[in-house]
Amino acid sequence: MDCLFCKMINREIEPDIVYEDDHVLAFNDINPQAPTHVLVIPKKHIATLNDIQEEDLALVGRLHRTAVKLAGQYGFAEEGYRVVMNCNENGGQTVFHIHLHLMGGRQFTWPAG
Ligand code: 5GP
Ligand code: ZN
Repeated sequence: MDCLFCKMINREIEPDIVYEDDHVLAFNDINPQAPTHVLVIPKKHIATLNDIQEEDLALVGRLHRTAVKLAGQYGFAEEGYRVVMNCNENGGQTVFHIHLHLMGGRQFTWPAG
């Protein structure tokens, strides 16, 4: 399967890893949009948010718990941060293996930026 993030999980490509366990991998985004910008991905290939199944609910919870744990380690859990999952074209998704963007270290605006 020609998936960039699966290649990282298989170490065909070496990402800048910040956390790994049996289910989840987290690494620094190559084009950071904040002082901290980490991608948290499941080791299971799931293409988009639309493809999450009932059996994946615990895994999706793990993605979020990992983001929270990392936010604590980076020291911005209390001041706040942003977690985003983009879906398909209008959502701005460019890599079709689900990932949480964990961004922290600056003020974010809503709905843009
Ligand atoms: P999306 O647009 O799908 O929500 O997010 C994809 C993210 O993957 C983008 O923030 C982009 O910068 C990041 N990205 C794309 N290619 C690479 C890569 O080769 N290495 C890393 N670390 N991040 C990547
Ligand atoms: Zn994949």
